[in-house]
Amino acid sequence: MKDKKHKVKILNVFFDHITKSVLVNKLVEKVSQNQKTFLVTANPEIVMYANSDQVYSSVVKNADYTIPDGIGVIIASKMIGDPLSERIAGYDLLIELLKVGNEKGWSAYFLGAKKEVVEKAVHNVKTNYPHLKIAGWNDGYFDWASSHISDEIKEKKPDLIFVALGFPKQEIWISENIESFDKGLFMGVGGSFDVLAGEVKRAPVAWQKMNVEWLYRLIQQPSRWKRMLVLPQFVYKVFVGKYIKKSYE
Ligand code: UDP
Repeated sequence: MKDKKHKVKILNVFFDHITKSVLVNKLVEKVSQNQKTFLVTANPEIVMYANSDQVYSSVVKNADYTIPDGIGVIIASKMIGDPLSERIAGYDLLIELLKVGNEKGWSAYFLGAKKEVVEKAVHNVKTNYPHLKIAGWNDGYFDWASSHISDEIKEKKPDLIFVALGFPKQEIWISENIESFDKGLFMGVGGSFDVLAGEVKRAPVAWQKMNVEWLYRLIQQPSRWKRMLVLPQFVYKVFVGKYIKKSYE
């Protein structure tokens, strides 16, 4: 069941006005009550993609929570005069959930990334969160038509299902499969397994605090520059939307 909550509309995406600690409490409640939950962490690239793709747009709209993963979304919310509480980085939320899962003895499934990456990520999770049960894992380069992954999740009934296929794939996979599961918190986590595995470094805290984590990622992975071209378009669209009061629906 969806909560009644304050949503902030940025272009065509409705973000939850919520702090990370309140969100974590709500998610703990949902997981403890076996309520199936779908959470999207959306950055400006995701917002722009949702604005250009009807299918993806409805997938995001059907999520129980959409949270701002990216300073661009926070800036946009200020531009439209309805500021969001705070940025909630997908990776930080993933870590919080692993910590709570470790305390509560929950189980988790890891889907995505290259085989050696997900294996290393799971190995590190086992070391750092020894009381978290590992329900299973699979790399992200599987045959989409095969149901072996969803069958495994159906059977193991994990509490947390982290899907690291990058957008839009991860949200589409969740949306196409979630109906067949009884319980679980489903969350797309992008490149987070690469960080968990130690293959990619998270920006130092100082960079995160200065809101330039995106620049750190760009320096580490220069091939991402093309993806970033969408950022000025995003700001422009939000700006135009504010002043011309044009509806993007
Ligand atoms: N990936 C995957 N299957 C695919 C495409 C991508 O498992 O078909 C993985 C890829 O190996 C990487 C992650 O998805 O681990 C995508 O990371 P990216 O940095 O692009 O995601 P973002 O955080 O930007 O959404």
